[in-house]
Amino acid sequence: MNKINYAKELEKKIETFQKDGKYPSLLLHACCAPCSSYCLEYLRQFFDITVFYYNPNIMNEPEYRKRVEEEKRLIAAYNKQVETGDFFGMNSDENARKIDILEGDYVVADYLNAIKGFESCPEGGDRCTKCFELRLEESAKIAAEGGFDYFTTTLTISPLKDAERLNRIGQEMGEKYGISWLPSDFKKKEGYKRSIELSHQFDLYRQDFCGCEFSKRERNERQS
Ligand code: SF4
Repeated sequence: MNKINYAKELEKKIETFQKDGKYPSLLLHACCAPCSSYCLEYLRQFFDITVFYYNPNIMNEPEYRKRVEEEKRLIAAYNKQVETGDFFGMNSDENARKIDILEGDYVVADYLNAIKGFESCPEGGDRCTKCFELRLEESAKIAAEGGFDYFTTTLTISPLKDAERLNRIGQEMGEKYGISWLPSDFKKKEGYKRSIELSHQFDLYRQDFCGCEFSKRERNERQS
């Protein structure tokens, strides 16, 4: 079976409303500032974006705070560019729009309940599927309640995350809550590379583990 090119699917979707001069509203689930950097730089030209920071998978409060504050700092920097019209040579144009942020609940117990029985799965396995389901279900629910046109996630930018699985779950959650899923594979078209450049440019905190206590343990084992 031919694999779906989700990056192409996104481009096709954008073309459909771009020619009408429309800017649909998008709830963008964001995992962290480095992953958001390219996604926002690209998507802000086509959508009115509200970032949804919902990540109860992050192992503790200090780590969570660090990541959410970086997300806010990045968004403030991007919004300043739009206000001043000075993009410092970034890949943006006069169509770039300001970005809002909405913080979801941070309850680690919700994550631990969702992945119960899958704790020992290696990163990339079924534990991550449950984690994606939790975060994308909440995103779909909030997007539907808020009357957004679309929702999607920055998670597809990671080379370690399965874009096919994320798009399938997003589509299912969209159908469940009656909200359109925006397909994506942000790592394609040099998206991942660009996120590294932007992370350096904005001096963003780049964590070296995914977020949960299990991924931190795996990171420690790799390093020992
Ligand atoms: S490794 Fe990442 S995606 Fe997988 S369960 Fe942990 S936080 Fe979630």
